[in-house]
Amino acid sequence: MAVNEILAIAKKEQRSVLTEIEAKQILAEIGINCTDTRLAASKKEAVELSEQIGYPVVLKISSVDITHKSDAGGVKVNLKNRDEVEQAFDRIMESATAKYPNANIEGVSVQAMAKPGIEIIMGMIKDASFGPVIMFGLGGVLVEVLKDVSFRIVPVEKKDVVEMIEEIKGKKLLEGYRGQEPVDIGYLQDMLLKLSDFVDKTPGIEEIDMNPVFAYKEGAAVVDARIILSAD
Ligand code: ADP
Ligand code: MG
Repeated sequence: MAVNEILAIAKKEQRSVLTEIEAKQILAEIGINCTDTRLAASKKEAVELSEQIGYPVVLKISSVDITHKSDAGGVKVNLKNRDEVEQAFDRIMESATAKYPNANIEGVSVQAMAKPGIEIIMGMIKDASFGPVIMFGLGGVLVEVLKDVSFRIVPVEKKDVVEMIEEIKGKKLLEGYRGQEPVDIGYLQDMLLKLSDFVDKTPGIEEIDMNPVFAYKEGAAVVDARIILSAD
């Protein structure tokens, strides 16, 4: 589905939050690689989709009312067969409905289990004085504890995204630390350029959060994404 169609549906439903599936569809449309993610409305469908995608898979709660999915017991990773998918489906539904009794739950998203990589984050927020800015940082504990992130005002040029990645304190982790392979920094620069371009051309987006992105020796994959639309 095209970006405009997804935005129009959300607008019609008077929603400001896009689901993970919608967010990833938009990002894929603009050329950002995301894990293959599809919606299952029932347990049976979750198994069917898992078999189409191929094990191992990840199941996640899909609800516009639940944005922090793991806090709600809503993420089960590395599911290796039908039994594990069925059990995960039940557990996810139980804990999500227990924690959010009034949430409107559309089902679960079924997605390919991404191979491990260096966790990074990318996103966009609106700054009160500068307007849309894009963000880059290391994911996981580093970003939470050390706030190791960099920002640039949209639109950016190549030299800006080069600097954004250069100025991260934990940059060594991207360059191949302690025998790990270096990540594909050129690919990450390209993702930031695509993100800036999209934000610059598309009004009505309040926030984009890709957390985490797994960065690899070649390429990268967005594993979780959230998009919030402006209220107007
Ligand atoms: P939350 O809404 O809590 O942020 P996430 O979708 O980010 O939920 O999932 C929580 C964690 O599970 C991620 O940080 C990542 O480590 C892991 N994870 C999620 N999706 C995948 C996936 N497709 N492949 C591998 N790991 C995943
Ligand atoms: Mg996340």
